[in-house]
Amino acid sequence: MSGAGDEAMFCGQCGLTLAEPRHEGCALRATLEPPRYCTFCGRRMIVQVTPTGWWARCSRHGDLTSAGSATSDLELDDEALG
Ligand SMILES: [Zn+2]
Ligand SMILES: [Zn+2]
Repeated sequence: MSGAGDEAMFCGQCGLTLAEPRHEGCALRATLEPPRYCTFCGRRMIVQVTPTGWWARCSRHGDLTSAGSATSDLELDDEALG
């Protein structure tokens, strides 16, 4: 369950705000590696890779899982491009 009003403000890979310009590499890395920083508050998270994916724990925002964070399907993205 995610609380309403929580929006991703930080890069999960480098921990800087999404307003920073250089996240192309981070976006690529995010497809291969779990995030290291909470996207909501930028705190460093405890990250554990599991056989099915990964989970990451923010001391403030709780657990985030690979399954829970992946809300967009590639098929949907394809349609959005058109
Ligand atoms: Zn980044
Ligand atoms: Zn957090």
